[in-house]
Amino acid sequence: MHGTRAKRGDAKTLGHENPSAESIFKPYLQQRPLFKKDRDILRPSYIPERLPHRDMQIDTLASILSTALKGGRPSNVLIFGKTGTGKTAVAKYLGNAISKAAGERALPLGVGPEELARVHFVYINCEVVDTQYGVLAHIGNRFISDWDERIPFTGWPTEKVYDQLKRQIDELGGVTVIVLDEIDKLVYKSGDDVLFHLTQINDDLSRGALSVVAISNDLKFTEFLDARVRSRLGEERLVFPPYNAKQLQDILAQRAELALEAGMYDESVIALCAALAAQEHGDARRALDLLRVSGELAERDGAPRLTDAYVVKAKNKIELDCVTEVVRTLPLQSKIVLIAIYASENRGEGASTTGEVYDAYRDLCRRAGYTPLTQRRVTDFISELDMLGIITARLKSFGRGGRTREISLGVSSGELRQVLVEDEMVRDLVDFVPTQQKLP
Ligand code: ADP
Ligand code: MG
Repeated sequence: MHGTRAKRGDAKTLGHENPSAESIFKPYLQQRPLFKKDRDILRPSYIPERLPHRDMQIDTLASILSTALKGGRPSNVLIFGKTGTGKTAVAKYLGNAISKAAGERALPLGVGPEELARVHFVYINCEVVDTQYGVLAHIGNRFISDWDERIPFTGWPTEKVYDQLKRQIDELGGVTVIVLDEIDKLVYKSGDDVLFHLTQINDDLSRGALSVVAISNDLKFTEFLDARVRSRLGEERLVFPPYNAKQLQDILAQRAELALEAGMYDESVIALCAALAAQEHGDARRALDLLRVSGELAERDGAPRLTDAYVVKAKNKIELDCVTEVVRTLPLQSKIVLIAIYASENRGEGASTTGEVYDAYRDLCRRAGYTPLTQRRVTDFISELDMLGIITARLKSFGRGGRTREISLGVSSGELRQVLVEDEMVRDLVDFVPTQQKLP
């Protein structure tokens, strides 16, 4: 009691009494909101009603899948394209459309279900469901409404799950279209057995039919497929090219209109987000992330409107988050190698050679009491860091056929420092100056 009173008295004499609870929040509440109610519109999971610049892909896939509405089995399709090129959005969009088309044709015509081509659509993200059993059970359960009959998540022999699935598809009749998104994750983890089964199931079906739409970020995984699976899966192929800045701008403008209050953001914000994302690899997800994070930063600042400056801040924040994520999970020795490179750059010495990095690394180990690894192992770490994009290592020739690598940081040294000093195992090494310094 007494203490509280004394404090309050102090504040008064200094002239800054704590504001009342209401007035703390007032400025934020009075501020006109930037975001409309539904924030999720700027998140990657949202599927807009129109997908600009994907007409060709939508038309092609629609024409392939339309066979299902006529009761035939559509060809299997292999879709590939880099992240954020709209593969998932287009697949889900067409899945909704085809389910709707099949349903709509049923009602107004008033024909019995037997006369209609039924279409069942199943979407599976193989990053989440990444085993053969999981995929088969997931598809099977999609058709089983009675909980008691559902396929358990584990426990049955795979053959039994497969037989149950076959029975379900045949009993139901019609055409089942299965989208296996991020299929490469499944193949790398569990091989291609499930694709083998799913692409040959039609030989065993009497009434129903099944088509597979497989989606991947790159085509390398097809090298791991059995030749038969590869050819069956790739009956049709569809490429999603990266978006250019202008296309990203159209995509963003559409989403901004839905998600943000008109007049609360500068038009240039859209162009800037699009340009920055186009510089990377035409990734619509990155463009949308930039817009959403910019908005969140502006809102947190209580800014009167969203301006370009917030886009720049958002870009830095997203990059820092990526670097943080990667650096945090590096093994200890790799972090020390990174510190060796950081230290040289931080002293303004510019790029280092592999030998210089190794010397600095050995010094750091000695100083911290760790046993240094061989230069060979350190060279491996350097290659790994290069692949992760944290450093860049360029091969350079010198003298008579001699070659070394010029190594420099691939991220801002200030940001890197922030992340490194978080780790107490290496914190003391970050500002350590090695004994072997480069001669001027
Ligand atoms: P991918 O599956 O190729 O990695 P997504 O389909 O998940 O990419 O797209 C990433 C984000 O960008 C999603 O929010 C999606 O809605 C949006 N997007 C991609 N292409 C378009 C487009 N043509 N029109 C509107 N939004 C799009
Ligand atoms: Mg996707």
